[in-house]
Amino acid sequence: MINIQNYINGKLSDPLDKQFIDVWNPSNGQKFARCPNSNSNDLELAIQSAQNAFPNWSTLNQNQRSDYLLSIANEIKTNIEEFADAESRDNGKPLTLSKTLDIPRSVKNLEFFANLAKGYESETFYQDDVISRIIKQPLGIVGTISPWNLPLYLFTWKIAPALVTGNCVIAKPSELTPYTAYLLSKVCMKVNLPDGVLNILHGEGSTIGREVVKHKYIKAISFTGGTETGKEIGIEASKDLKKINLEMGGKNPVIIFDDCDYNKMMDSLVRSSFLNQGQICLAGSRIYVQEKIYDKFKNDFIGKVNALNTGDPFDLKSDQGAIVSLNHLNKISRYVEHAKKDGGVILTGGKIVKIDGNCSNGWFYKPTIIEGLPQESRVNQDEIFGPVVTITKFCDDDEAIQMANNTKYGLASILWTQNINKAHKLAELLESGLVWVNCWLERDLRTPFGGIKKSGFGKEGGKFALDFFTETKNICTKYYDK
Ligand code: NAD
Repeated sequence: MINIQNYINGKLSDPLDKQFIDVWNPSNGQKFARCPNSNSNDLELAIQSAQNAFPNWSTLNQNQRSDYLLSIANEIKTNIEEFADAESRDNGKPLTLSKTLDIPRSVKNLEFFANLAKGYESETFYQDDVISRIIKQPLGIVGTISPWNLPLYLFTWKIAPALVTGNCVIAKPSELTPYTAYLLSKVCMKVNLPDGVLNILHGEGSTIGREVVKHKYIKAISFTGGTETGKEIGIEASKDLKKINLEMGGKNPVIIFDDCDYNKMMDSLVRSSFLNQGQICLAGSRIYVQEKIYDKFKNDFIGKVNALNTGDPFDLKSDQGAIVSLNHLNKISRYVEHAKKDGGVILTGGKIVKIDGNCSNGWFYKPTIIEGLPQESRVNQDEIFGPVVTITKFCDDDEAIQMANNTKYGLASILWTQNINKAHKLAELLESGLVWVNCWLERDLRTPFGGIKKSGFGKEGGKFALDFFTETKNICTKYYDK
């Protein structure tokens, strides 16, 4: 059993009250670690250490802070095998995915913000004899709360802009996937990140998560997770007028027109539906296909999905790994049963898979395509966050847009057409923070990221994240003639 520890004041420690949570390997259903279930006492220690660290950290010059992030990134890169292995063991995702997406992107997050911050310039306005100099200052101590689907990727996406702008951070990773954040603590110790600059507290959302949101010395909360959790955090943090950034759930539409580049669309669609077992907030889970190509599409899509290999995440032949937890596996199953009751036809999948050998007690679900489900069905409205998609026929632009927007979510949309004028016109009508045209998961880290409607509040990414973690001050000076 691995003993995951908190990282407070530059040191690893067990929680003061010795409360722990079991950590499971989803691919074999076995416990492999325990992590702290921290509480307010642990938080107080972290806050004290962050308060002590803030004066020096916030006044280091930008290059020095950026260099720390680059050293952390470099260490992760050097140990990519260890990090990727840990991510797959904790989350159940295929090792190839951890190696090619999760860990490289975590490195990139740190490098990107380290470099971006060097050019984060303040503006100066001149007006007659008055000069207004606008400066950006760190907030102080900030809290970050991240989910389990892309554990280190989203953890670093938050801590990097917070740290590089001079804040001290209390970071809470998901209790389901704490392992890579723990490995990152060790990296911070190795590169001698000053004590107290980053504190990592493990534990449940209902215990330490809530305490972080409430703490009076924490000036801002950057959260990624489910919409209901985000709503609760938003309400609590607003009581104290904290800055909040909420990145939440999605139920993203994919609109496929009959003039699309069919082969490119099909390859991309399999990924946008099932990458990471569909456990990506940006996954396209409602697929709308123009009537002329619908029948061909349906057969081809079923064929492609049937060819996906679900199995041991550590087997390089596996396209699909395990579902993160038994609870989540059961939730996915319940939604598929509900779809049947609502008149949905299961075209493929729709069942838990048993894998022979080492993974016989693991939590696997077959990639699933459902047809014929009413738009109002819960299965077309709620975020399932698993390997389940619905397909529906549409006839024209208006119907496609109406169905795509018929949800409370507004995270991302995906459009497939070679008519670029139409694409731009329809993209403006789609109610989401991001529209991908003829692609999926292309990310330029300088661009704003975040949903609208019930998917997001505020933007992350690039300068938007640096702005979030800083306070803007205007120093207005008048010059007099002697
Ligand atoms: P979750 O909301 O259950 O938990 C997310 C994090 O919040 C965890 O660390 C959890 O411990 C913590 N938490 C839970 N309750 C809390 C509370 N009351 N106060 C403070 N912290 C609390 O979400 P999850 O199941 O870990 O992740 C899946 C969800 O995340 C999906 O809805 C998915 O769409 C969303 N997500 C969104 C994005 C995005 O960028 N929009 C990215 C990835 C995942």
